[in-house]
Amino acid sequence: MPDRQQLYEGKAKIVYSTDDPQVLISYFKDDATAFNAKKRGQIAGKGEINCAISSHLFRLLEQHGVATHFIDQVSGNEMKVWAVKILPLEVVVRNIAAGSLCLQTGMELGTVLKFPLVDYYYKNDALGDPLLTPDRILLLELATSEQIEQLRHLALQVNQVLSAFFQACGITLVDFKLEFGIDHQQRLLLADEISPDTCRLWNQAETDPDRRVLDKDRFRRDLGEVETAYRQVLERVLSQSAHRGV
Ligand code: UDP
Repeated sequence: MPDRQQLYEGKAKIVYSTDDPQVLISYFKDDATAFNAKKRGQIAGKGEINCAISSHLFRLLEQHGVATHFIDQVSGNEMKVWAVKILPLEVVVRNIAAGSLCLQTGMELGTVLKFPLVDYYYKNDALGDPLLTPDRILLLELATSEQIEQLRHLALQVNQVLSAFFQACGITLVDFKLEFGIDHQQRLLLADEISPDTCRLWNQAETDPDRRVLDKDRFRRDLGEVETAYRQVLERVLSQSAHRGV
């Protein structure tokens, strides 16, 4: 990679250029943050684990017709991706009440939602990533109404594919966050990562509300054994992918 230059460093990843302007390298770090970076730490091996999980899930989604920025996993921590301009939106899909949904609505943790809920948040650290409405997205010109419809449709499609996949892994997909970007041909691509950092994943073999947690809530809530949990997700994703030929 001769022309490699660091373009951007985020909380969990570093983005490098390549000699092709349309192709970037996304490097997954072991750094972990939560609560708008007020809590910081490291999770040993997280970069490699999340890079591998994300690679498998992007490949799975591509097989189901979802256009993503994923090109290839090029090393333990590195993914080759298409260059996109990231929309300043986080699209969250929820199947079961947890996290901010419980805090903001009073719903009880673990309540199965009557339908998958799609929430939009403003990617803006200074404002603390506030919840948006479609009208606010239009007002702030963060996306067009056509794009909002597209995002909603894609998010629900991703939810169907991932929920079924994780179900086969013995894991419940509680909720997750997606980011999207626009490439040089103006195509809307699923971007960023899909990993235990960005999903709530509950082990179906455990009933205890703390023991079942296989995602970043272990870090957020100091539940311990974070790396073990992430590794368990990876192992199940790998064996299910091998089973399906993903
Ligand atoms: N999430 C994320 N990045 C964020 C905020 C949320 O990946 O900046 C994920 C989070 O891991 C969970 C889902 O989005 O899987 C819903 O998070 P929620 O709104 O409940 O917020 P939280 O409780 O994590 O603050």
